[in-house]
Amino acid sequence: MSTKMDVSHSSLPVRFSQRRQFTSELAISFLMQQAVENPLVISLAAGLVDPQTLPVAEVLQATTEMLASETVGKGALQYGTTAGYVRLRRLLLDHFAQLEKCSVEQLGIGIDRILLTTGSQQLLSLVCEVLFDPGDICLVAGPTYFVFAGNLAGVGARTVTIPSDEHGMQIDALDQALNVLHQAGDLPRVKMIYVVSYYDNPAGTCLSEERSRQLAAVAKKWSRDHQIFILEDAAYRELRYDGPEYPSVWSMDESREQVIYTQTFSKTFSPGIRVGFGIVPSALVQPLADRKGNEDFGSSNFAQHLMAGVLQQGLYASHLVDVKHGYKLKRDAMLIAAKKYFSKLPGVTWRHPHGGLYVWMSLPENIPTSFRSDLFRRAVEAGVMYVPGEICYADSPDSRPNHQMRLSFGVQTPEGIDEGMRRLSIAVQSCL
Ligand code: PMP
Repeated sequence: MSTKMDVSHSSLPVRFSQRRQFTSELAISFLMQQAVENPLVISLAAGLVDPQTLPVAEVLQATTEMLASETVGKGALQYGTTAGYVRLRRLLLDHFAQLEKCSVEQLGIGIDRILLTTGSQQLLSLVCEVLFDPGDICLVAGPTYFVFAGNLAGVGARTVTIPSDEHGMQIDALDQALNVLHQAGDLPRVKMIYVVSYYDNPAGTCLSEERSRQLAAVAKKWSRDHQIFILEDAAYRELRYDGPEYPSVWSMDESREQVIYTQTFSKTFSPGIRVGFGIVPSALVQPLADRKGNEDFGSSNFAQHLMAGVLQQGLYASHLVDVKHGYKLKRDAMLIAAKKYFSKLPGVTWRHPHGGLYVWMSLPENIPTSFRSDLFRRAVEAGVMYVPGEICYADSPDSRPNHQMRLSFGVQTPEGIDEGMRRLSIAVQSCL
């Protein structure tokens, strides 16, 4: 037998799965690359949390206590269960009841409905894998969270975009779209409606109480022979700075069987810990857990034990107060800068978010903002970057609106935000 390595096979074509072909590079990778190549550019693009807020002291304290207890420490270093650490799931049920302003009993569900995931992104991805065959339909807002649009594309799902305004997805339009799908005989293929209900990424809006109620009613109305789920992505729910405190879509569904609710500790505590969770309808508990088990045997048990300690010791609650204070100042800095630099530019408008990390800005329709646009190039030359609105639409590339921008205030200091907005206004003005 020859000892030489046989390299002849390396040039043979690889037969990738269909799913691999549906999956494309994240549009945001281009921005990350630009940021590396232009280190002096002020990024109003990155949706990262502020590095200054990362809770090093809290994590050190919780980790030390966790490892000081032999049983807890060893438990944290062992495999866990797929559904997640029971103590954390209990704490999450309490936490969720607090957010819903009711008792755990009034929630009407138990911890068996809670699935711990590696960030909430994993739940978004698992839901797509468990529910969608190629050609199945998901209704999404326009604009929507672009990473989730990628998840849907990755399973070959068809998306139908529903317009949104300052109160989120327009439910009348959703109802009409479902009617059109029904007339076309496509209702059996409609599996889900996706909404980012609080301080949307990218639009910065909340679904008003009225809209949430209507949304639950419309989903119920069109769930005739099959359930049409609502996926409520509440990633930014706890980052509220002012304005009304809206109830969740989940709370509007009395059956507790229609809404898949997801939340995360990434924005409020640490994205590196990668702990998110879903509250899922009973029919989806086992299918999602089975799929997750096949992928990872359960999320990091260490991270889950850590988050349980952080919640139980009150470290999360106190950290959240500081985080919100810091982000509110930054949100204000961005809105003040928008007024200062953009109010005289004709046709430029922006939303005033009451929470979250993003301001959504619209330019006159004849000014494209895409990666290939003059504006994007001029913005980078002026030393600033933004997320082109175009990538936040799930429609086919030639029908996407292309005159909007997502501006993040999470990472930069208030001074950096002011300077970034000044630079951006110069680039925009040069295109008017
Ligand atoms: N949903 C939305 C709307 C988001 O903006 C993000 C993060 N960008 C996520 C889900 C996923 O975050 P994570 O996986 O860190 O919980």
